[in-house]
Amino acid sequence: MKAPISLLVDDPCPLIHVFRNHWVDVHHKPPTTADGRPLLEHIPNSFLDRFCDVMERWRIKGKFSIVPAPAGLGDVVVGIEGFDPELTHEWIATSLRRLGPICDFCPEMITHNLALDLSTGGFFDVGEAEWSQTQTRATLTPYVTHALDLLKRAGVDANGVTSPWVFGIKSEPEYIASIVAAQKAVYGRDESWYFLHMLWSKPETRPWIATEGLVAIPATVADWWWETIDSPRTDDAFVSGVCDNMLTEDGKRGQIIDVLEAGGWPIVLTHWQSLFSNGLETGLAVLEELGRRLDQHLLDRVEWMKCSEVAALVRGNNRST
Ligand SMILES: [Zn+2]
Repeated sequence: MKAPISLLVDDPCPLIHVFRNHWVDVHHKPPTTADGRPLLEHIPNSFLDRFCDVMERWRIKGKFSIVPAPAGLGDVVVGIEGFDPELTHEWIATSLRRLGPICDFCPEMITHNLALDLSTGGFFDVGEAEWSQTQTRATLTPYVTHALDLLKRAGVDANGVTSPWVFGIKSEPEYIASIVAAQKAVYGRDESWYFLHMLWSKPETRPWIATEGLVAIPATVADWWWETIDSPRTDDAFVSGVCDNMLTEDGKRGQIIDVLEAGGWPIVLTHWQSLFSNGLETGLAVLEELGRRLDQHLLDRVEWMKCSEVAALVRGNNRST
C-alpha cells in the first residue's frame, strides 16, 4: 500500500496577512521580518490564483484553512474592512472552484488573533490559543460552532477544524468534544478530523482516532518554508536548499523520506505566510519544486490525499483490525 501524503495549509484568509496582525495584537511585537523589512498588511487575491496553479499542476492534495473573521477585521460573509466585499466573495469562490476538488476546507478558529467574546461581539485581551487552554466544552462548543457557521454562511463545507497555534492543547478532551458537537450542530456531520499536533520529532507517527467520529491528523513534516519569510533571497539555489529539507533533488533524502522509513505518514505543514514570503512568493516556488520532485521520484511510494481521505483510511484500518 502507498502511504498517504497530505499538505496542511494553515492561515489562509481573504486579504488579511494574519501573521502580521497576530504579531502586533497578540505578541505586541513590531511587524517586521527577522531581517528588518516591514511585514505587508495584505495579501492580494492574485496570490491565491498562483497558489491554485501550483496545486493543480502537481495534483497536490490536503487541507486549506480559511480564517473566518481574520484579525476581527470583518469576515467571510460581510467582507473585509476597507475592501469591496466583492473581493472577499471572489476569493471564496476561487477557493471553492479550484481547490475544492483537491483540498478539504476548515476554519482556523474565528480570528486567528484575539479571542472573540461571543456575548458582546467584542474581543478579550488574549489570543485565541491562550484563551482556549482554560475553557471547557461549555464555552468551546459555541466558539467552534460560530467558526463553522461563518464558513457555512459563506458557502463553504468545512469538514474539519484546524487549531490556531496550539489552540486547546491543554484542554484537549473538552476541545475534542466541542469539535464533534459543533460539526453535528452546523453540518449534521458525524465524521470529521482536526489538526492540532506537530510531531515531527516522532517520524513514525500516523493519524489516530481521537474519539468516535473524529480523527486527529498530526503534522510529521515541519514548515521548512518558514525561513523564506525572513530572507530576501529568491534564487534557485535558495529554493532548492529549502526544498532539500523535505525531499532532495535525487528523491533520496529529506524529512519526507525519514517519515516513510520510520513507518509514519508524511503530513506536511505549511502556512499561507510562508508561501507568500512577505510578497516575494519564494515559498510558492519551493512548493512548485516539491511538487515536481515528488512527481518525479516518489509517486510509487506515496499518494496525495485530502485530510478527509486520510481520516477515512484511518477509520477503515481501525475497523478491519
Ligand atoms: Zn495558524
